[in-house]
Amino acid sequence: MLATADPHTDVVLLVESVRKRPQRSHQKLRWHFYVSAARHFALELREMGFEVIYEHAPTIHEGILATQAQLGGAELWCTEPSSFGQMKSMQKLGAQFVTNDFFLTPRALFGQWATGQKSYVMESFYRSQRVRLGILMDGSKPEGGQWNFDKENRLPPPKNYDWPPYLEHELDEIDLQVANEIGFMPTKIWATTRTGARAQLRYFVDHHLVHFGPLEDAMTAENWALHHSLLSPYLNIGLLHVSEVLDAVLARHAEGDIPIASTEGFVRQLIGWREYVNGMYWHLGADYKNSNSLGATRELPALFTEPGKTDMRCVGSVVQDVAERGWVHHIPRLMVLSNFALLAGVNPQHFLRWMQESFIDATEWVMVPNVIGMGMHADGGLMMTKPYVSGGAYISKMSDYCKGCKYNPKLRTGETACPFTTLYWNFLERHEDAFAQNHRMKQQYFGLKRLSDRSELQVRAEEVIRALDAGAL
Ligand code: SF4
Repeated sequence: MLATADPHTDVVLLVESVRKRPQRSHQKLRWHFYVSAARHFALELREMGFEVIYEHAPTIHEGILATQAQLGGAELWCTEPSSFGQMKSMQKLGAQFVTNDFFLTPRALFGQWATGQKSYVMESFYRSQRVRLGILMDGSKPEGGQWNFDKENRLPPPKNYDWPPYLEHELDEIDLQVANEIGFMPTKIWATTRTGARAQLRYFVDHHLVHFGPLEDAMTAENWALHHSLLSPYLNIGLLHVSEVLDAVLARHAEGDIPIASTEGFVRQLIGWREYVNGMYWHLGADYKNSNSLGATRELPALFTEPGKTDMRCVGSVVQDVAERGWVHHIPRLMVLSNFALLAGVNPQHFLRWMQESFIDATEWVMVPNVIGMGMHADGGLMMTKPYVSGGAYISKMSDYCKGCKYNPKLRTGETACPFTTLYWNFLERHEDAFAQNHRMKQQYFGLKRLSDRSELQVRAEEVIRALDAGAL
């Protein structure tokens, strides 16, 4: 939008909505990041010669109307917003839109791809992106001889590993001012300027990219970020552009000492998953976020906001990480947080709200498909052909959480049975009508039929749910 703006004729308006100020502690981290980044951006624009109006108003709508009146009914232009709700509000105000270029795939192009699909398989979209954009290709063949290095990229956390330190970003006056206003002290993990975001990109490329792939799915209580890039907040807020991240990674890859599994694993996240999820958000429509095809009604359990209250070491550790930094990587999001919410029958919209409020990189386009479609399978299988559910065995294989946990991932009944394992079998039982005929779940239902302790399992599942509701799990 600002690429074509002229400081001599255009005024830039930024509105801080007072009504959206965080009321509860888990909302503060994300608010701080957005507001501090906006105030830094206003300063940068002024340095570039723009007149910037930074309005504090009860709502964004009111802030825009007040400024328009002050400027004598000036034309309103904005970048296409990243949610249906914001799009509607801006349309109501008579805004004219500039195409949102935060992505490499225009919405219309994704729509063309999606319309031609029987099921929306990310892998086929991703391969078409590789070909269309000419990334990691040897002519018409994928570089390295295969499209996918998932098998190489599923290592558990290594023992006695020397993790590189994190890059820290010193808090400046603006960061501290915003922090003071909401009574919150942020970590130094997140930058709130473009300079900081670019430093983070450099740091990832120089120190982490080489090891990213093989450990991208691992989880450990010893290290919260492993070799992940921590770039999603900057990409989603606009402090980095996808093409500059891609260029930096491919340039480093061209030096020849980065394994293809690492580069491909990262490129898959960037031009595959990220573009796919954004495309699906717009393709699936505004009502998609209200889906609840499994009829899940449980309120958000207290353990999502009070991590110290659970004896489940995996959930406690991941929720603590979210509380401290507003971020965990895709596997704890999917296989710990969402998996547990789905198994426990938590209402998908309650869980979605918590995720949107808690994660620093949460934007509506990313959270809605990821939570409603992938995590909670609340869309009746529109996005994913089977639910992402697992018992404690997956978490035990991919993490070190189970060592030292009160529960045993191998047990499904009895007092020390892992709640994931108990609720996993109980989930299959509860939703037999929905999934027993799904050919991708045949093995699971075959396993369920062979269980000899189904009535004890039912008793234990009821105990687990009672304990969960009482805040005593
Ligand atoms: Fe989590 Fe179960 Fe492992 Fe405990 S035993 S850490 S609850 S998976």
